[in-house]
Amino acid sequence: MKAELPAKKKTKVRNIQTIIVIYSIIALIMSFDINKIRQDFPILNQKIYNRPLVYFDNAATTQRPQQVIDALNRTYTEYYGNIHRAAHFLADKATLAYEDTREKARNLINAETREQIIFTKGATESINLVAFSYGETFIQEGDEIIVSEMEHHSNIVPWQLMAERKKARIVMLPIDDTGRLLVEKLDSLITDRTRIIAVTHISNVLGTINPVKLIIEKAHARGIHVLVDGAQAVPHLKIDVQELDVDFYAFSAHKMYGPNGVGVLYGKKELLNKMPPYQGGGEMISEVSFAGTTYNELPYKFEAGTPNISGVIAFGAAIDYLQNIGLETIASRENELLNYATSELLKINGLRIYGTQQEKSGVVSFNVEGIHFFDLGTMLDKFGIAVRTGHHCADPLMAHFGIQGTVRASFAFYNTMEEIDRFIDALKKVIAMF
Ligand code: PMP
Repeated sequence: MKAELPAKKKTKVRNIQTIIVIYSIIALIMSFDINKIRQDFPILNQKIYNRPLVYFDNAATTQRPQQVIDALNRTYTEYYGNIHRAAHFLADKATLAYEDTREKARNLINAETREQIIFTKGATESINLVAFSYGETFIQEGDEIIVSEMEHHSNIVPWQLMAERKKARIVMLPIDDTGRLLVEKLDSLITDRTRIIAVTHISNVLGTINPVKLIIEKAHARGIHVLVDGAQAVPHLKIDVQELDVDFYAFSAHKMYGPNGVGVLYGKKELLNKMPPYQGGGEMISEVSFAGTTYNELPYKFEAGTPNISGVIAFGAAIDYLQNIGLETIASRENELLNYATSELLKINGLRIYGTQQEKSGVVSFNVEGIHFFDLGTMLDKFGIAVRTGHHCADPLMAHFGIQGTVRASFAFYNTMEEIDRFIDALKKVIAMF
C-alpha cells in the first residue's frame, strides 16, 4: 500500500521542489556567459563594410568554435592517417578518434548501438542513401511515399528519383497558411500502398517544429516507416531516436558548429540490414572476387571509400561543444532571440512573416510589401548583416504562399539581442530607401 504524506508535509515538499527548479533556472542562466561563448567563435569578431558582422544565416550553416578548428588542426598536425585496417600508429590513432565520434553521435541522439550511426557527407547524402537503398528493397511499382509540402528539396528530389526508377508515386502532405503541417490529413492520405513517410523535424523556412512523434505513431500503426530530416533540429533540440521510435533520422555536422562535408544517417538495424549498399568501394566489402562480393557489416556496409576523416574527428569536438552548453540552454536562448526579433519585425509596416506557429525554432522568414527580398538582403549585407534570401531550396513551400522567395534571419546561441537591434535598425533604414 502507498503511504500518503500529511497535507502540511506535502506543501513543504512542493515548496522545496519549487525552490530547486528556480535555483536550476538561475544556475542555467548564470552558466551561459555570452561574452565567453563569442570568444570561442573568432569569425564573429570582425567588421564587414566597416560595421560589426551580424551573422543571421545559421540555418544555412553555422560558424565553428575554436575547439572544432583546433581539433581539425590537431588531426592534420598530429595523427592523420587512413582509418581502419590500420597497421601503424598514425592510422590507429586516427581510427580511434574517428570511431570515438561515432560513439559521441550515438550518445547525442540516444541511438541504441554505434552500428546504427552511418557517416555520410551530409543530410542530403543520408536521405539519398535511404531513398535509394530502402527503395531497392521495399518499394514496388504502384507504391506510395508521403512527403510534406514544407520539405527542403533534399527530402523531395531523392524520393522523386527513386519513384521514377521504381514507378512509385509521391503523395504530398499539405500545410496551412500558418505553416502547420496538416497531420490530421495523414489518415486519409495513407493507403495500403503507402510504404514510407519523409518529413522534416523543423522547417528551414518557417521554423515550424513538426509533431514527428505523432506522425511516427500514426505511421507505425499502419505498418509504415518514417524518415525524419533532422538537419534543422539536431542543433536546437534534444533528440532521442529511441523515444521517437523513428526508422531513419538524417542530419549534417555543418549546421551544428562542426565541419562541412560530414553528416549522419541513423537507422533501425533490422531495416539497414535488409537494405543493399548505396555505393560500392573500399571498406564496404567483406570479400571481393569476380565470382561475387560479400558486404561488410553495419555501419561499414554504407561507408564506401575513404571518408572525411579529419571532418568526422572534428565533428566529435562540435558534439562536445554543444553538449557542454546543453541543448536545453541553447533552445531557451534561441527562443528568446526569436521572440524578440519577431515582436520587433511585426512593428514594421507592410512586413509579413511566413511561419507563425507557436512551436518554432529560431528562424524568421519575411517579405516587405513592394520590395524584392533579394534587394533587402543585398542592402542588409552593406550594413554588415548576413541573412539569406531566395527560395531556401523549398520551391513547393514558396508555391504554397504564392511567392518566389523570402528574406530569412536565423539565430544561433552566439547571437545577441543587440545584434537584433542592429538588424532591425538596418532593416528600417533599407526600407526607407525605397
Ligand atoms: N534539410 C533541411 C531542412 C535543411 O535545412 C538542409 C540544409 N539547408 C538540408 C536538408 C540539406 O542539408 P545538407 O545541405 O547539409 O546536406
